[in-house]
Amino acid sequence: MENLLEIKNLSVQYKSPKGILGRMQTIFAVNDLSLEIKKGEILAIAGESGCGKSTLAKAVIRLENSISGEIIFEGENISDTKDLSNFRKKVQMIFQNPYASLNPKMKIYDMLKEPLKLNTDLTDEEIEKRIIEIACKVGLDTDCLNQYPHEFSGGQRQRIAIARAIILNPEFILADEPVSALDVSIQAQIINLLKELKEDYKLTFLFISHDLSVIKYISDRVGIMYLGEIVELGTTDEIFYSPKHPYTKALLSAVPQITKNSEEKITLKGDLPSPSNLPTGCKFHTRCPYAMPICTNKSPEKTQISQTHYVKCFLHSQN
Ligand code: SF4
Repeated sequence: MENLLEIKNLSVQYKSPKGILGRMQTIFAVNDLSLEIKKGEILAIAGESGCGKSTLAKAVIRLENSISGEIIFEGENISDTKDLSNFRKKVQMIFQNPYASLNPKMKIYDMLKEPLKLNTDLTDEEIEKRIIEIACKVGLDTDCLNQYPHEFSGGQRQRIAIARAIILNPEFILADEPVSALDVSIQAQIINLLKELKEDYKLTFLFISHDLSVIKYISDRVGIMYLGEIVELGTTDEIFYSPKHPYTKALLSAVPQITKNSEEKITLKGDLPSPSNLPTGCKFHTRCPYAMPICTNKSPEKTQISQTHYVKCFLHSQN
């Protein structure tokens, strides 16, 4: 499968106030990260809160500036491009909190009409046809179109946000924890809707989530992120049924009902270290039950386990 998006050696850092004195510290949110997203796939990124997932998502669509690295979309390096209007039409985002992402003063119809008016030459009649088509597709009753966001439940608001995301026929959707604010009963409906849209509109997704059961259900491939780095990447089956990195195993050990792998349980000790003070060597060494002397001063390189699966860990290193 052809790559839609390539991320090459991306690093994102920002300043944040520390403690009551508010002295500024540097947050090393994404560190020399490389990743390819193939056309038509759902690539999920999993990891604990604070591991850099959301910063990565924002950097990919240039809502966050990177300090180095490249973002290549459809073969074009957009890392420093000033005019992103074409890119923005092809790439849309679905956020965790649908209410915050919808303008409370706009009726749903106007909210869906606005991007079509600004970005297409469609007539009013064609715009109406498109809005009705998309509303039906995401499971919204057309009567809803004359209402305001506050009149809807969380699940319906997320359907509206999804309708707005796909109204311009994008190619790439970045979904950042799109179901984690919803009731469990609604989560499955929204996940199924995203899967259906992916097939019907040939969409590609970067799907950010901390919920491994959701990831297992929706994704084609999974990257495991720890302190701004992808430490393991593979197909969904490789990650869930043949994990290699101790961190992946620890994440999976916390949800034993979704894996067959019952032999090795790793309990995560301690909290995620601060991204302002990254550990040397393998960043996981401060919490890893298998840490060796080399792990404290050297970073493991990628080891290819299969054509589709790699891990960064000295336990699997061939050198
Ligand atoms: Fe653990 Fe060392 Fe592997 Fe890092 S490289 S995950 S510290 S064994």
